Amino acid sequence: MNPVLTLVIPLYNEEEALPHLKEALDKVLEREKIPTQILFVNDGSRDGSADIIDKMAREDERVEVHHFKRNRGKSDALDTGFRLARGKYIITMDADLQDDPEEIPRLIAKIEEGYDMISGWKEKRHDPLDKTFPSKVFNFMARVTSGVKLHDFNCGLKIYRREVVGSIRVYGELHRFIPILAHAQGWRVGELSVTHHPRKWGVTKYGFTRFIKGLFDLLSVTFLTRFTFSPMYLFGSIGMVCLALGFVILAYLTVGWFMGIWIGNRPLFSLGILLVIVGMQFFSLGLISELISHMRMNMQLQIQSKQDKERDLQ
Ligand code: UDP
Ligand code: MG
Repeated sequence: MNPVLTLVIPLYNEEEALPHLKEALDKVLEREKIPTQILFVNDGSRDGSADIIDKMAREDERVEVHHFKRNRGKSDALDTGFRLARGKYIITMDADLQDDPEEIPRLIAKIEEGYDMISGWKEKRHDPLDKTFPSKVFNFMARVTSGVKLHDFNCGLKIYRREVVGSIRVYGELHRFIPILAHAQGWRVGELSVTHHPRKWGVTKYGFTRFIKGLFDLLSVTFLTRFTFSPMYLFGSIGMVCLALGFVILAYLTVGWFMGIWIGNRPLFSLGILLVIVGMQFFSLGLISELISHMRMNMQLQIQSKQDKERDLQ
């Protein structure tokens, strides 16, 4: 029988925290009596984490483990967890006990109010300023560009209905954007303020580069969620503005030329030509992107109809 809940716990070198985490989980799950699959995804740890979770799996039948041979990043670890999860609900949680297992019942109660996923909000966050400040900037930008009204996009603690995790793929560093990806698919995304603790064991796996990478990823995600099916809207409008400006400038100069004004040495002339060329390039880029997106759609439709046929034959 399928469990009600799957806990997906990605971990990378967390040997000190793991026994404490298990103890805290046992306490909550015992009390709440929720049939649970505890899924540890070991993201290529080089300390004793692998042995510790293997031992847990031997001693507790609810525990399942998956090992990566090398460190592939939190997104890949979560994605693998999502594929292996069997529960009706899936909760993701960091392994370092900064997320509080006591929040499990509250998350379940909240999603049952009629949401498809609930994202935790570390309202009182216990991390150093060099982490919290960039994170505030990142969250602000993510809110503005995506239109998803969350305070905290990157909280490790989240709950999903299984259909939601089945419908999104996270890779690279996309785990920071799961609420945006889910929202773009039409799932109802909510938020719950959750307790957050300082890290007591081990060290953080992320430095300041995460902020820079995060901003680049935000650009890609905004593009992917807003313009995948109509890239021409974006590139075409930029191209049109450049072309229009270029034409106006060149027309103005041409009129002057007919009136006998020498235009060869005017900076405006170069600007006009530049704008026309750049405008054309944006247009071409738009057309190529449309072609790619069209081909992708066709491919998806073909796969879909093949799957439908196979299902009919069964
Ligand atoms: N993690 C992982 N792979 C990585 C980096 C981190 O599985 O490459 C795990 C890590 O073990 C922890 C969670 O992701 O369980 C969050 O990482 P961390 O606590 O270092 O992030 P922070 O809380 O500092 O933002
Ligand atoms: Mg942490």
